[in-house]
Amino acid sequence: MPRKPWEKQAMSTLTQRQLDSWWMPYTANREFKKNPRIITQAKGAYFTDDRGRKIFDGLSGLWTCGLGHGNAKISEAIYQQSQELDYAPGFQYGHPMAFKFAERLVDFMPTGLKHVFFTGSGSEAADTSLKMARAYWRAKGISSKTKFIGRIKGYHGVNFGGFSVGGIGANRAMYGQGIDADHLNHTQLDENLFSRGQPSSGAHLAEQLLELITLHDASNIAAVIIEPLSGSAGVIPPPKGYLQRISQICREHNILLIFDEVITAFGRMGAKTGAEAFDVVPDMMNIAKQMTNGAVPMGAVVTSSDIYQTFMDSPSKDYLIELPHGYTYSGHPLACAAGMATLDLLEQEQAIERVASLSPSFENTLHQLKGMPYVTDIRNFGFAGALTLESAPNEPALRPFLVAMRCWEKGFYVRYGADTLQLGLPFISTEQEIDDVINAIGESLQEIALT
Ligand code: PMP
Repeated sequence: MPRKPWEKQAMSTLTQRQLDSWWMPYTANREFKKNPRIITQAKGAYFTDDRGRKIFDGLSGLWTCGLGHGNAKISEAIYQQSQELDYAPGFQYGHPMAFKFAERLVDFMPTGLKHVFFTGSGSEAADTSLKMARAYWRAKGISSKTKFIGRIKGYHGVNFGGFSVGGIGANRAMYGQGIDADHLNHTQLDENLFSRGQPSSGAHLAEQLLELITLHDASNIAAVIIEPLSGSAGVIPPPKGYLQRISQICREHNILLIFDEVITAFGRMGAKTGAEAFDVVPDMMNIAKQMTNGAVPMGAVVTSSDIYQTFMDSPSKDYLIELPHGYTYSGHPLACAAGMATLDLLEQEQAIERVASLSPSFENTLHQLKGMPYVTDIRNFGFAGALTLESAPNEPALRPFLVAMRCWEKGFYVRYGADTLQLGLPFISTEQEIDDVINAIGESLQEIALT
């Protein structure tokens, strides 16, 4: 059978046994192992694959590597730290880098977020924030507040709490019952199709929270958790006024507000955080990904003083420990070193200012794809953008997959998820590179329309 255009022979020397040995995450393993896409090197905004081709990294890894790959300052910081102190337990012992990095993070955060609980990933941050919320209300003597409110299409990682508050049906079908959660609707409205930046309609959708409060009673609700901009669902920016209203309702009904900023923090919005970009400060913020420029896994929950102080003031039960929770790799010294270097570079290279200043031209170029085959919507904010494609019969992900594969062959990595194609540009992208990756998407759409 002739090869499909994207099925070029890989130069990989990997054996079938090696390929079968790694059960790959969030991967169509059966398809991949027939047609492996193997990345062997990365520098700046480019990967190199096993055929020696340079591939523009249009998603900054997985929204992780905005400052570019193989940054010498980050590598050096990790190396130096590994020679000084490669690992130290964070349980009942501390090490300087974790305290110093936490302080730097607090300085970086919007006013009001003052204490950092380190985790190893975004999923761990999600579940940590949910456990903290329940424990906070218990410490306050209101142990009925255990339910969570998430959103349809929300993504908060893969652990039990995160998938329960997340709004992705396929997860429920696969894993069954999670923890007690209800969901607000997403904010994708027909009248907002092809809107640029924050859509103007949709603030009224925040009122659904009042309905859920009437249904469940605020005395049973611990927290609302939302991504200020839904990333994995395909870049859904919040309608103007929506987050403000959610925050106001939470405050009025004594419900904690958690922002999952695993994608939006550290510059992608053209601001330090989504909270800053959209001007709403939550009680807790979950961070990961760009936190270390992707070089070492790390996440964290950053909390208000009220939350921290509630635990510090409460009688502790377990060997004086206020919150019996934590990970072997919480505050890992190498991750802290990578994170410190990342914060330095964001500042020195004025990366956030660069995203803010180039995002209008990214927006203009991206929206030129309107009218291309199958494109039913385009959304963007900062250096995040997505297209929705009309689904092939019964196969919502097929067209985005075909486009992503064609882009890969043309030397561009873009992400496909459900019926969307997503771009998360490196902060160091040039205008030419932005034009080129968007052109590659346009050409690929035209090609698949002809097949
Ligand atoms: N929350 C959000 C908003 C995310 O986008 C992600 C990852 N895409 C996660 C949580 C989970 O992070 P991780 O994959 O590091 O566990």
